[in-house]
Amino acid sequence: MPALALPLTAAAVAHAVPAVTARGPARRLTPGLAGEGRPGGVALTFDDGPDPDGTPAVLQTLADLGWRATFVMLGSQVRRHPDIARLVVEAGHEVGVHGTIHRNHLIRTPWAIRRDLRLASGQIAEATGVRPRWFRPPYGILTAGTLWAARDLDLVSVLWTAWGKDWRGGPPDRVAAEVMRTLRDGGTVLLHDSDCTSRPGSWRSTVASLPLLAAQVEGLEVRTLGDHLGPAC
Ligand SMILES: [Zn+2]
Repeated sequence: MPALALPLTAAAVAHAVPAVTARGPARRLTPGLAGEGRPGGVALTFDDGPDPDGTPAVLQTLADLGWRATFVMLGSQVRRHPDIARLVVEAGHEVGVHGTIHRNHLIRTPWAIRRDLRLASGQIAEATGVRPRWFRPPYGILTAGTLWAARDLDLVSVLWTAWGKDWRGGPPDRVAAEVMRTLRDGGTVLLHDSDCTSRPGSWRSTVASLPLLAAQVEGLEVRTLGDHLGPAC
C-alpha cells in the first residue's frame, strides 16, 4: 500500500475518480464500491499477502477472535507462497485479487491491467481452489481502465472506509485508533497481512492491533466482504 506514500483515503479516491475516469463514464463511488455494506457489522480485509510470517499470525489471531475476513492477494506473493494462500481458504476466509504486481494503475494501460488481473485471478484460483470475486486496486487507485478490466473479468471492485495505516508499523494502539477514527457501522476496514510493500515487520503491529479493535467494535459483527456486501453488489 504505502510505496507511493500517497494520503489516499477512500474519500480522496472518491474525488479522484471523476478525474481519472474523465475519458470514460464519469461516476461517483457506489456504496458497494466504497465498501459500505449492510449495517450491524463491518467487513475486515487484508491486502498484499499471502506472507509466510504475517499471514499465519493474522490467521491465528482471527481464529482466537472468531472473526472471518477477506484476504486481497497479490499474484506475485501467491506464486511464492501458494501453501499460505491455501491456508487462508482452509481457515474459512475469503480471497480477493489485488493484482499480480503492486503497481499504480494510472501508469498502466487498460490492456495491461486486464492481463495483470487475469493472471492474478488464475494464480489465486490455482493455489486455493477458489476463483476470487472481489478486487481492490493497488493504492486504491481506480481508473476507467481499472473499472473496465475488473468488470470484464467479472470481478467486483471494493475500496474501504477505514484503514489503520499499518504499513508504518509502530504502536498497535495507534493502528487501532486510526481504524476507529473513520470506522462506522457498515464500513470496511483495510489492513495488511504482509510487509512486502511496507516497513519490514509491520504485520506485527497489525496482528497486535486486532484484539484492541475487538474491544472497540463490540456489538458489531466482523465479516467477509461476501457477508458484508451480499450477492447484489
Ligand atoms: Zn496494497
